[in-house]
Amino acid sequence: MIRTNNCGELTAKNLDQVVILQGWVKKVRKLGGLTFLDLRDRYGYTQVVVEESQEALVKGIKPEYVLEVKGMVKARKAKNPEIPTGEIEVAAEIITVINPSALPPFVLDDDVEVSEETRLKYRYLDLRRPKMQHNLIMRAQVNHLIRNFLVDEQFLEIETPVFGKSTPEGARDFLVPSRLNRGKFYALPQSPQLFKQLLMIGGYDRYFQIVKCFRDEDLRIDRQPEFSQLDLEMSFATSEDVMNLTERLLKKILQVTKNIKINEPFLQISYQEAIDKYGVDKPDLRFDLPLKTLTSLFVNSENKLMQKFNQEKAEIRGIAIENQLLNKGQIKIFDEISAQFNLPSLGILKLENQTWTGGLASSLTPEEKNGLLQTFGLDQNAKATILIGGGKYHHVSHALGEIRNQAAKMFDLYQEPYKLLWVVDFPLFEFNAEENRYVAAHHPFTMPQTDFLPTFDIDQQNAIADAYDIVMNGFEIGGGSQRITDSEIQARMFKAIGLTPEQVKNNFGWFIEAYQYGAPYHAGLALGMDRIIMLLTGADSIRDVMAFPKNAHGIDVMSNAPDNVSDYQLEEVHLKLK
Ligand code: ASP
Repeated sequence: MIRTNNCGELTAKNLDQVVILQGWVKKVRKLGGLTFLDLRDRYGYTQVVVEESQEALVKGIKPEYVLEVKGMVKARKAKNPEIPTGEIEVAAEIITVINPSALPPFVLDDDVEVSEETRLKYRYLDLRRPKMQHNLIMRAQVNHLIRNFLVDEQFLEIETPVFGKSTPEGARDFLVPSRLNRGKFYALPQSPQLFKQLLMIGGYDRYFQIVKCFRDEDLRIDRQPEFSQLDLEMSFATSEDVMNLTERLLKKILQVTKNIKINEPFLQISYQEAIDKYGVDKPDLRFDLPLKTLTSLFVNSENKLMQKFNQEKAEIRGIAIENQLLNKGQIKIFDEISAQFNLPSLGILKLENQTWTGGLASSLTPEEKNGLLQTFGLDQNAKATILIGGGKYHHVSHALGEIRNQAAKMFDLYQEPYKLLWVVDFPLFEFNAEENRYVAAHHPFTMPQTDFLPTFDIDQQNAIADAYDIVMNGFEIGGGSQRITDSEIQARMFKAIGLTPEQVKNNFGWFIEAYQYGAPYHAGLALGMDRIIMLLTGADSIRDVMAFPKNAHGIDVMSNAPDNVSDYQLEEVHLKLK
């Protein structure tokens, strides 16, 4: 027999209909002579009522049993306006146990406290919880929406290989030994970057793919060894075209999933402005709280901390948290962040009722205090805590940027639920001190901006890329660039990052060769789907928006992967040392 309805759809419109529901027992309870059980599936749950005379029907039935219930839809005496099926109940006539269930290791409700390890070990049970179902259902909806949107825009969904050669995205590769080719390895793709560029040469002018990418990095709340990108590339297109399309897509996603309308173009700020104002290259602009540079204010300061900073030629920077007087515990949290960047404890000043307190209160001059008020745009009557740090420009900015984010969380400073912006004008290179060379900041197929074309390979430090990142609520949710399609520029780019012609030939010869055969100009981007869904669902980690993620150590605790393999398997791939 098949179900006539799901467990989330019956309402007063269905009164007196005989229905068949199938699902899991969420709860069983007795009330006087009646037994109530809630039957759940991914659409919701429905109350089933069993008369005293029918009590045998529910004998032995426990939570998580899978049942089929046949009965009539009746109006409920006590209605539950919280759920769509709250007006009705099903009066059971026949109950069939499809399968019993062992006692689950945790109650499958949203508000039950259970460790993540246990949830991951029994992921298939965890997935029954409404919150997880909501997350994965939204994810499926967004994927669907993306496909419809891009297909309407003439994009083709084309798959690229998982077994391939290393792609230069700057992380470590996962390697797969080849049995048929002794001693050789495939690298799992960090992204389909090279293939999508070749598809442009192949004439598929608008490509996309929702694709797994693999990077062997340390894991964080927003990082997993395998993750999904919406990867896309457009020919005869500039950065602007890609950014424009991405904005329209993201606006649509927000509108459909959150009913949030964004009409105006996304804000664009330069990398330099992001660091200067917000300390990080992925600023959370749901709130303001800008960083200020205070170095010149304190050049001649008599204050010990400021003198120390001046001696070290440190940059002095600070933020002012308005309307808050921080207590010791809160300051300690910020000091710990500062310590993570190897910076000394923060200088603290508090102002209330025109009275200064805090560590720096007695040792700064009135002029210095007034200077601070002016810099932060505060008046004498303001109430605020000012935090001051010193160190190398990037260090102190980054530390204060983290503190800025933490302060917003601590004092709930958010003014809107979602804020999207572009960060542009990125440096083309980063200096890698360990290797003593410049490396590509995005990847080595990124075009320098036109102004830097003559000089990018002799003045790497100042070269700016034609690249863009899209940032949502303080997370980098994607990035891309205009690609190099000129073999001379590409050769200079490789030289600028210290690759010898030999290395270039061995690693990318096959790829560069393709550009001799008529390449259209092209640009593209990839969006991190896991992060986007995490932000849309309000999940705490990307693990909560993946069906079967790894734990923080990269382990699938359910199946215990990675695991040892047999000697035989090792021998087969020639990895066994004899
Ligand atoms: N492949 C790049 C990345 O994964 C995105 C792009 O440049 O299109 O970050």
